[in-house]
Amino acid sequence: MTGDRAPSRSVTVRAAAKINLHLGVGVVRSDGFHPLATVYQAVGLYDDVLVAEADAWLVTVTGADHVALAEVPQDDSNIAVRAGRTLAAHHGLEKAARIEIHKGIPVAGGLAGGSADAAATLLALDRLWSLETSDADLLRIAGELGSDVPFALLGGAATGHGRGELVEPLQDNGVWWWVVVGNDTGLSTPAVYRHFDELTPTELTPTEPTPTEPVEVRDPTIPEALVEALRTGDVDLLAASIGNDLQEPALDLRPDLRRTFSDGAEAGALATLLSGSGPTVLLLCRDAVHAREVAGAMRASGHEHCWPVPAPVAGAHVVSYD
Ligand code: ATP
Repeated sequence: MTGDRAPSRSVTVRAAAKINLHLGVGVVRSDGFHPLATVYQAVGLYDDVLVAEADAWLVTVTGADHVALAEVPQDDSNIAVRAGRTLAAHHGLEKAARIEIHKGIPVAGGLAGGSADAAATLLALDRLWSLETSDADLLRIAGELGSDVPFALLGGAATGHGRGELVEPLQDNGVWWWVVVGNDTGLSTPAVYRHFDELTPTELTPTEPTPTEPVEVRDPTIPEALVEALRTGDVDLLAASIGNDLQEPALDLRPDLRRTFSDGAEAGALATLLSGSGPTVLLLCRDAVHAREVAGAMRASGHEHCWPVPAPVAGAHVVSYD
């Protein structure tokens, strides 16, 4: 990929936010993870990550006004540093780097901004250090860093199984427009999963009759109508086939979000959906003009942070070598 070019002093990679068009969640496993069957789509909100040679790991974070920068660690616990260290270790290198993250993706919004930074760092360091890591190894390392990191490398649309880290590209021939409605108060992903567990019975209560057969707990699956909607670009079919098993638990924890949903419907969205574990809300629109109208109506009803964004967009990609 780097060919005969002189070594770069820095590399900048852009990575997109993800949404889950379908998030099917199974009953928690003994290792604490929930089996997922999800359909990811990359949407046009981005973080940029610059990496440069350095003697010690250093990370700085800047961002757009709407980004809660105080919540992003600027030390070794930043997932971008973990990504860098993991890649260096994979190649048996004692190297370090300076990482500058510029965030456009809201923090703790269910848009996987941290995962985007991890994926961007993997790709940027691979190029800076001319490592030529195979795609399979990059995806495997990404999966070790976090469930959403492999998809941030891939972009477009994809199915995700396991914890979400086992990704397969999906044909997406649509030109979709969403309004992403941010929320100033983040929602903890583990808290939403805990509440999902509370609302999802895993055992029969003593009042129920004892079954003669063991209770079958079905694994989550991907709806065929959704795959068809993406393949054909049919926005009405998409509107009818999106869904998120974390939506009810999240709304139970954050009843204030119900107003965002009703405002979205009133603003004319074709469908409303919680993004991942929330609190970001997604409004499906017919096209770019419709998305601008819906965003305007949402702002008028008090939702300050609304972004009309296209989808699908590319996965992590180099934007400059300096
Ligand atoms: P997840 O579902 O993975 O929690 P999310 O989209 O809800 O994703 P993120 O924006 O990825 O949330 O941030 C989750 C938490 O991860 C933050 O509250 C922050 O403390 C921590 N974090 C670590 N590194 C980063 C990073 N580079 N960017 C954002 N958050 C980070």
